[in-house]
Amino acid sequence: MYHQFMNQSLFSPLKISGRELKNRVIAEIPSSFLANEAGDLTQDMIDYYERIAATNVSMVITEPFAVDKNRLFAKQPGISNTGGIFSLSRISERIRAHKAIPILQLFHPGINAKPETGLNYVYGPARFKHSRLKAEVRQYDFKQIAAISGLHIDAAISAWNSGYSGIEVNGADGGLIQQFLSPITNLRADDYGYKGQRGEKLALEIVKAIRKTLPDFLIIFKLSTRDLLPGGRMLKEAINLAMALENAGVDMIHVTAGFTIGKVDYAFPTGRTVANAPFAPDCAFLKKHLKIPLILSGKIALPGLAEEIIRTESADAVSLGRTLNRDLDWLNIAAMNSEHVKVRECKRCPTCSAASTGCPDMKGYAFWKLDLDKHLIRRKQ
Ligand code: SF4
Repeated sequence: MYHQFMNQSLFSPLKISGRELKNRVIAEIPSSFLANEAGDLTQDMIDYYERIAATNVSMVITEPFAVDKNRLFAKQPGISNTGGIFSLSRISERIRAHKAIPILQLFHPGINAKPETGLNYVYGPARFKHSRLKAEVRQYDFKQIAAISGLHIDAAISAWNSGYSGIEVNGADGGLIQQFLSPITNLRADDYGYKGQRGEKLALEIVKAIRKTLPDFLIIFKLSTRDLLPGGRMLKEAINLAMALENAGVDMIHVTAGFTIGKVDYAFPTGRTVANAPFAPDCAFLKKHLKIPLILSGKIALPGLAEEIIRTESADAVSLGRTLNRDLDWLNIAAMNSEHVKVRECKRCPTCSAASTGCPDMKGYAFWKLDLDKHLIRRKQ
């Protein structure tokens, strides 16, 4: 078919660890803000995932699910808040219904957690002060670190039992694992410290334990190639970690960059002025050192750019978050490859409210209620 010839790299299948992705476009969902105040799943959230899966992406990585009671914000969904296996499986089965592979993303906010009611402290790799953190940061002891590994393993088992094909261990986005990996926040002096094993011990322990417990489960690790903050982790260290993760049994690495302390707008490249695909050079460099496939994230706004990234082997797949939120027709338009129908480009708001209240210039949630087919027909006219 003509469109497949024009964007043939983007629409080519990819084999990973005994599975096949039908194309190279993966959805990784930003926080939807559709869980309820207790962090439980809602019907709106399940509908939202169905709409994303129906866009013809090959894989859907969920928004970050908290592995315990620590949350970034009240409405962050949590593994333990989903009412058990049944609720978690409601999302995976809706994703599978559209022939996409469901992946559950595991996240612990560490020092970026919202303190529990009545408490003014949170925990992290080490005691740490920063003007953007209001709560006191206390240091996790060995017993608590072992419990965090255990939480990730339990969460992976829940995902397995709930029909997911794998999990994404989030070692980026300012989460606890990245806090261990960063010399800025990991001031410990022991083996878990940055000075000891470059802060990699926790990440590797979690991955090895999940691989041992669930030999056939897909493990994706989200890796920040550099902190993009003064004194932060650099690309050279990310390459060493990526190779260690590959040896530990990770199936795919999801490439991003940046680090977050406090508010998410601190170092995250969210703005309109940021170049397209800012992490592509790091991803291409990382690819030279690894055998496992890499997913590239970050402002891959246009289908032609995504095609170029895959064609030049800068990455094996691309992940879309806000880009897909902004335009559910993105893949259909990529397939049409028409001069007359263009994707609607995301405005890169600091926080994406598309799934909960709609984009700032649209009529809120009603946009998401549109029937997919009718929506595309309207765009073609
Ligand atoms: S325009 Fe703003 S609300 Fe809409 S998808 Fe982009 S970031 Fe999200």
